[in-house]
Amino acid sequence: MSTSDELFRQACARLDGWREEMIEMQKQLVARPALGPENGGQGEWERARYLLEVMSSWGLDDIEQVNAPDQRVPEGNRPNLIVRLGGAKSHPAVCVMAHMDVVPAGPEDDWDTPPFEAVVKEGRIYGRGVEDNQQGLVSALFAMRALKADGVVPPGDVILMLVADEETGNSLGIEHVLKSRPDLVGHEDVVVVPDSGNSDGTMLEVAEKSILWAKFTVEGRQVHASMPQLGVNAHRAAASLVCRLDEALHEKYSRRDPVFDPPESTFEPTRRDANVDNVNTIPGREVLYFDCRILPDIDTGEVVETMRGVAAEVATRQGVTIDVAEEMLARAAPATSTSAPVVKLLAEAVARVRGVEPKPMGIGGGTVAALFRHAGIPAVVWSTMDDLAHQPNEYCVIDNMVEDAKVFSHLYLAAR
Ligand SMILES: [Zn+2]
Repeated sequence: MSTSDELFRQACARLDGWREEMIEMQKQLVARPALGPENGGQGEWERARYLLEVMSSWGLDDIEQVNAPDQRVPEGNRPNLIVRLGGAKSHPAVCVMAHMDVVPAGPEDDWDTPPFEAVVKEGRIYGRGVEDNQQGLVSALFAMRALKADGVVPPGDVILMLVADEETGNSLGIEHVLKSRPDLVGHEDVVVVPDSGNSDGTMLEVAEKSILWAKFTVEGRQVHASMPQLGVNAHRAAASLVCRLDEALHEKYSRRDPVFDPPESTFEPTRRDANVDNVNTIPGREVLYFDCRILPDIDTGEVVETMRGVAAEVATRQGVTIDVAEEMLARAAPATSTSAPVVKLLAEAVARVRGVEPKPMGIGGGTVAALFRHAGIPAVVWSTMDDLAHQPNEYCVIDNMVEDAKVFSHLYLAAR
């Protein structure tokens, strides 16, 4: 048995013994709802002060504050706590990012328990924020505490980033941290964001598709339905446009990447705005949308050009005009390579703790890990959870919280 093996067993024993303390921290966090001002709250300071106090009582005292000015909250800034456990070397460091803020509870009637009062039942903790993102926060923090309690010096620094403003745009949270401290995290470091996952812990999220919402406005001429020859039917043109786009986009962008499920880009006609109120009127204007999830290495600008080409063809044939607009565009960050150290080390840790075989996977888009990836830092989103983020009756499976903490302790000890 190697030393690090023994240290890992020690950490696991400690974490099993801290199960009730982890639950207690969840309760304390739920009682301090950290809502951003956009959501009618005062930010994360109440929670941050509680965490600072607890961490100091554990001897975790290497804490840097990279707070972001915000005059909307009483303290005048939003807290970002960078907690460090010094390693034998500073790099490669293991960095875990968890956000302190939560989203509002939504209608209280939808909840079976009070959203801001944690309730423990049947192996779960219920309350707003217990899964998103307190589970990851508590797991990563207790794993750090375990190493600290045993006086372990990990091979590389362990850095916990407890940030603000994830639910309301990140600019006062991780974006501010990465901008203010560009030297904090490097390309060689191991970055994990425990903010999403699946229920057996096998999903290592390494890539996202770009998201494009395209809006098409078709203009014809509205007339009485008995005299179609006097007008130009925008509905017919819109129907033709949808079919032509559907064919052309799927044919041109048919490439597959097995990391994703589904493996190809998707182009779905979704919303269609209301047109005329009565059946006997030919509509002169139609507005419709496509939701597109595009593989990260396809140029979204080129996709829009393809759309314009199809629209021009249909417009000529149908005698209408068609305007094509980008309603929303979120360009995917470069994917984290499936051979990056973070993928290998995390897969090993999960396999060791859970006895499962994790797989790198891609998703349809929209995680905060993109901010790291855009900065050229390979990051993985991983956690063991049922993914109840933002739902009523949000819960955290207590076993997941404890076992994920063991995974983090393995990761902290293994990165070298
Ligand atoms: Zn979250």
